[in-house]
Amino acid sequence: MIRLVDMELLVKKGIGLGLLMLFFYTTMAQKLPRPIVRGQFQQWTSHEEMLKWLHQITASSSDLHLKVMGKSHLGRDLVSVINANLQDSDLKIMIIAEQHGDEPSAMEAALWLIEQLPEYKARFGNVHFCVVPMVNPDGYEQGTRRNGRNQDLNRDHLLLLEKENQAVHAMYQEYQPHVLIDIHEYPADIGTSDFPWEKRTQEQLGIVTNLNCRGSFHHSFSSGVVLPEVDSIMTLRGISFSEYAVGSMAKKERIRHSTVDIDDGRQGLGAVGGSLSFIIEGLNGKGRNDNIQSRVEGQIALLSALLEVVLKNNEDVFNAVNRYREQEPLADEVITSMDHFVGNENWKTTMYHKDSNEPKNFSYGFYQSEIWPIKKVQVPSGYLIPASDTLLNQWLMHHGIEKIRVLKGLSSGTFLFKQWKHEGWKTQMLEGMQVPGWTGAWTVQKVSVAECADYWYVPCGQNQLKRIVMALEPESMFGLVRYPEYAHWRAEYPILRVERD
Ligand SMILES: [Zn+2]
Repeated sequence: MIRLVDMELLVKKGIGLGLLMLFFYTTMAQKLPRPIVRGQFQQWTSHEEMLKWLHQITASSSDLHLKVMGKSHLGRDLVSVINANLQDSDLKIMIIAEQHGDEPSAMEAALWLIEQLPEYKARFGNVHFCVVPMVNPDGYEQGTRRNGRNQDLNRDHLLLLEKENQAVHAMYQEYQPHVLIDIHEYPADIGTSDFPWEKRTQEQLGIVTNLNCRGSFHHSFSSGVVLPEVDSIMTLRGISFSEYAVGSMAKKERIRHSTVDIDDGRQGLGAVGGSLSFIIEGLNGKGRNDNIQSRVEGQIALLSALLEVVLKNNEDVFNAVNRYREQEPLADEVITSMDHFVGNENWKTTMYHKDSNEPKNFSYGFYQSEIWPIKKVQVPSGYLIPASDTLLNQWLMHHGIEKIRVLKGLSSGTFLFKQWKHEGWKTQMLEGMQVPGWTGAWTVQKVSVAECADYWYVPCGQNQLKRIVMALEPESMFGLVRYPEYAHWRAEYPILRVERD
């Protein structure tokens, strides 16, 4: 059998094999249609069918590798499909889908992309993909949002307690993608008897909201180029589209562009890692098996539109992300508290009457389109963390954060250690939720180097700087200390701050 790459070479050499090529694509498509296509969109692809199809499609292509990244909590394979032959100049794009097991069109869109990878390479040249089509196979097979340990994977990207996320983060760290796309589904905002209009845009695209991770290029490109251009493409395709927003007009809630927290995939994996990062949210059905085909087609339409805009700007994205990653270890300050505020715009959207389906345009003033910083800290030289804190040391390891053992005899006098003096508890608000916070201050503490022998030193000057500071500053609204797993830190904060000279 003639392989695809050989065929491309022949065509590039100017040998007129167009017909044969067409024949080849046709036979390949006939041989290996995606399971959902084979089943005429009557049922979703099971984990087992997916694995079988991935084995077949990767075995028949010299450019696609199937990688088993690990096992889920209940022992199912976690897999990715990755292009072979990575070149230094390739724009690396990582896709993750199906973190939530009850959002099946996300996984189907990822399988579609895997099928298209040879075509993307042929069309766009310097591009390289890593696709993780099913992050949560246990949840998927159970039909639940959460994983086999009943945890929400898309709220675990900071703590990284779940095996599925540990595998995905390890893959991310190894691959270092320039672009991350996380695919989901969302439920319609159902109208009420007072307000019988439903918000059910077919596709939404979310960009990064956490101010620390909005590199100037990343943000201006995402909001100024990607969103408007994707909007135009989706309009041409006749699919309703908007920027991803949460909050309900029917319930008179504020509308905002999703969370600023870093425990989700878009931010806690992609954006904190320096990638240009997005979340795709397609409309789900009222039941799992409603509108299978239109849900899949909607997701494919948005994923392909997003890729088209990003790949048209391949070189700019490549350079900007590399530059951002070089500069990140030098950052001076990190924002530890921020919130959404009403800006100058109104939220404009089309809604549909819940009974008659009639569309109507709405404009809504309670639109928190802006995000402003509330508190910043100067980035210290690093932090000292107790070697005995197993949970924290595992956390560092799972995030690939570098640490250095503090040894007796290390030259003293260059570090100024500060210890957190706890003054009391307060509650701070994170997007309407109450989270634990501290009052207190860092005070100078005489700690000799000898006393630090049982500590690890975590320097901030590494490409995890923002994650380190957001997670380890005790007052941070993103801090580890607000999670129950780290509640024991609340009596006495165990981390010492090492000031810059
Ligand atoms: Zn989801």
